[in-house]
Amino acid sequence: MKAIALIPHTKTVQLIDFPEPKIESPTQVKVKVLEVGVCGTDREEVSGGRADAPVGENRLIIGHEVLGEVVQVGANVKTVKPKDLVVIMVRRPCNECPMCKMGCSDMCESGNYTERGIKQRHGFHAEFVVDEEKYIILAPPTLKGTAVLTEPTTVVEKAIDHACRLQVARLPVDPDPKKWLVGKNVLVAGLGPIGLLASMVLRLRGAQVVGIDIVPPESLRPRILEAMGGKYVVAKEENATGQKFDMILEAAGIPKLDFALTQFLGTNGVYVLTGVAADGPPLAVEAGKMMRDLVLKNQVMFGSVNAGVAHFKQAVIDLEEAEKKWKGVIQQLITSKTPHEEFQNVFQKRNPDEIKAVIEWT
Ligand SMILES: [Zn+2]
Ligand SMILES: [Zn+2]
Repeated sequence: MKAIALIPHTKTVQLIDFPEPKIESPTQVKVKVLEVGVCGTDREEVSGGRADAPVGENRLIIGHEVLGEVVQVGANVKTVKPKDLVVIMVRRPCNECPMCKMGCSDMCESGNYTERGIKQRHGFHAEFVVDEEKYIILAPPTLKGTAVLTEPTTVVEKAIDHACRLQVARLPVDPDPKKWLVGKNVLVAGLGPIGLLASMVLRLRGAQVVGIDIVPPESLRPRILEAMGGKYVVAKEENATGQKFDMILEAAGIPKLDFALTQFLGTNGVYVLTGVAADGPPLAVEAGKMMRDLVLKNQVMFGSVNAGVAHFKQAVIDLEEAEKKWKGVIQQLITSKTPHEEFQNVFQKRNPDEIKAVIEWT
């Protein structure tokens, strides 16, 4: 079969012939790949950055945001059957730390987890993939157009879930974390796929969402936000809102902006970071004011990465709900679909209007 493979820590990425994987145990599922989303992680990998081949191999099949169709199941598989639409989880446990042993590899403490398409496990840019049933999530047929967005949605599901859990744990409110957002004011910084999918989940939970970015107000990102009932503010004009927020969700990965936004976090507010910032020169920040606010206003600031199985299931539910509520809107996040033979066009350069680029396999 064909697959897209990278020699890690080089820029050599090619369409190669690779042995088709086979079901080797009764708990495995074989999936025909339909679409794979491309994100910053993939582009970092193909530019010679973070990526590791499986032990004993020199190539890594890349891709981690997959939508596929089940073609074969092992004898003990119960939750999916041939022709089902599925997405597949990315991270696998280290099997040494307490978090992984409890089924929470997204909170791995050893750092020795593996990830399909990123760290020591082949990814999903291939005609077929095989995996254990426990990592396969069923998606309804109605999500055929948007389920490729499930993996990035899981990232925001976890960030928002954890933010809400922190709040209900420390405030005298309804203990159901899903209810905490009703009527709350939330600032989303950066309207790429993560910021827009976060806005989707926040709006579904009843929050008032203000999104900031640097793009013109009439461009696609603000229009998608507004179609979901959010409000767009051009960055640098966020002062103009004069507003304090109950929650800030950062999806820009720009340290200067991220620190500047702390001034808009309200009393008892929660600030969650999801953007992965690059190294850069040291930054002068008003550290005294920031630390004083954290203490005197009971604020929480935390980071979030990856997601667990519950977040994958919630992502599918929310994408389905969003499709019902704002028909055709979420699909607009997918700004291009490229046949896998032409993958270099997508990996090597990013179209400035791109939100989510998708590679088609079938
Ligand atoms: Zn990704
Ligand atoms: Zn672990």
